[in-house]
Amino acid sequence: MSESTESKIVWPDVPTIHKAEMRLPGGEVDEWKVRDGGLRHCDYCGSIHPEDLMTLLQTGKAKLSGSDWKYGFPHKFYVSSAEGCGHLGKFYTRHLIELSPEAFDAFAPVLSQACGIKWERD
Ligand SMILES: [Zn+2]
Repeated sequence: MSESTESKIVWPDVPTIHKAEMRLPGGEVDEWKVRDGGLRHCDYCGSIHPEDLMTLLQTGKAKLSGSDWKYGFPHKFYVSSAEGCGHLGKFYTRHLIELSPEAFDAFAPVLSQACGIKWERD
């Protein structure tokens, strides 16, 4: 079994951004919950886990569309099946903040290619 560079990437175990943004008290922890099709979704905003979205895009199983600029930037994309018109979920770009540098470097080019917007970190 060969070891790929992707296997060394540390992806977020739990969503952390919402507690910080909403200044919610501790205690209840947000989770990535597995839903239809085995995809992990944030139980707060419903976003598909970035690693799952990366796999869908890399394997040609999904496409992105329908971002509005409600907050002054493309804060979400609709994720649909590349075959037919099935809706797989959404991806909220706020979850990019949670990624380790390695995960961001792996995911950002894939996301950029799919949506036509270049994502970088400060
Ligand atoms: Zn979320």
